[in-house]
Amino acid sequence: TLSIIPNKRHGIRRNQINPCALKVATTLQQGGFSAYIVGGAVRDLLLGLTPKDFDVATNATPEEIHKLFRRSRIIGRRFRLVHVMCGMETVEVSTFRGPSPDDEADSAAVPLTDQHGRLLQDNVFGSQEEDAVRRDFTVNALFYDPIKEEILDYLSGFDDIKAKKLRIIGDPEQRYREDPVRMLRAVRLGSKLDMQIDAETAKPIGDLAPLLQNVPPSRLFDEMLKLLLSGHSLSCVVELRARGLHHGLLPMLDVILEQPLGERFITIALKNTDERVRQNKPVSPGFLFAILLWHEVLANWNTLKASGEKPMPALFKAMDQILARQHKNLAIPRRFDAVIQEIWSMQPRFEARSGRQPFRLLAHPRFRAAYDFMQLRCESGELGAELGEWWKTFLSVDSEEREKMLPTQT
Ligand code: ATP
Ligand code: MG
Repeated sequence: TLSIIPNKRHGIRRNQINPCALKVATTLQQGGFSAYIVGGAVRDLLLGLTPKDFDVATNATPEEIHKLFRRSRIIGRRFRLVHVMCGMETVEVSTFRGPSPDDEADSAAVPLTDQHGRLLQDNVFGSQEEDAVRRDFTVNALFYDPIKEEILDYLSGFDDIKAKKLRIIGDPEQRYREDPVRMLRAVRLGSKLDMQIDAETAKPIGDLAPLLQNVPPSRLFDEMLKLLLSGHSLSCVVELRARGLHHGLLPMLDVILEQPLGERFITIALKNTDERVRQNKPVSPGFLFAILLWHEVLANWNTLKASGEKPMPALFKAMDQILARQHKNLAIPRRFDAVIQEIWSMQPRFEARSGRQPFRLLAHPRFRAAYDFMQLRCESGELGAELGEWWKTFLSVDSEEREKMLPTQT
């Protein structure tokens, strides 16, 4: 049943809506269509958070949308939607979607789900109510009409927001089977929004966690990146682990977290990352992956050294082994390899404190990332605190003092 929430109850003001999204909704309505701000933006505004992006949903088809906006294009990833550009901004406009037809009725059709129930297609237009129902959580299924300034709520999402309850729409098990990524979204949104995952919504997750293995690695990777860059990565990782969801994402995370040093390293690093994100400072994904995998590299490196290999060749071999495993398991895209390898391979150079070596290291374009990484190693207890202190001092003094800190080579 639809409830219409008037302005005086929801409190969202029109000037909180991104101007581009507002213009898109207005133009669509003037063109005779219905158009609403949907999803994460409405939810975030009700929670007093700043939305990342504003999506628009409408009963206009992609072609009809495209005709209304000169600067727009139809894009078709998993489903077709329209990108409308205003200035430097882009707003995503999607047509209301409904449930996919039952594929058992028409066995000649392309299959709609895989053998585990995962949706392979999802491109059938539908009514506004159907569009609400196919979304993931009730709090993500609110429609805000920026002209009438009212919220349309088919699934009691408004009450769930007030109660800080994250509740999946429909039968939880079926919805996770359709798209296992929803389990990860539950954890991420629970942390980010500081919401309790409803008991029914949480219950099947433990048993269904293995379904993540059937999700295309590129989608898992996108979701993992969102999670790590959410500003709540530490609580997300703790929660993922508690619910048994980390296997699919970071195949080795459990191994790493079981070693006390590894756990400390990752905990400190993620806390650090979360602070940076919350201060709007840049965080490089390469740096994060270098962190998450470092203790695996260390383990392999130590084994190779113990079997008699020289330190540097052993390090490079260990790096290759770990990255190769990642490419196979979870597809950390290869474009991050160069950064990850640089950060790792610079680590031994921080321990060489004589002659010109520290100066050469300082001049390296990736010095800052490698330095931050080394400091995290010290803080976690993997390296002596003295090394980190020495480098802090070295960076803080002038070049004359720096010379004095270095024993001349004989
Ligand atoms: P964020 O703040 O991370 O952007 P969001 O909820 O806006 O959170 P998006 O990925 O931008 O997440 O998705 C936009 C909307 O699309 C969601 O609010 C939800 O209504 C719907 N949605 C996203 N992912 C799914 C999914 N896997 N299954 C069903 N609906 C989804
Ligand atoms: Mg969003």
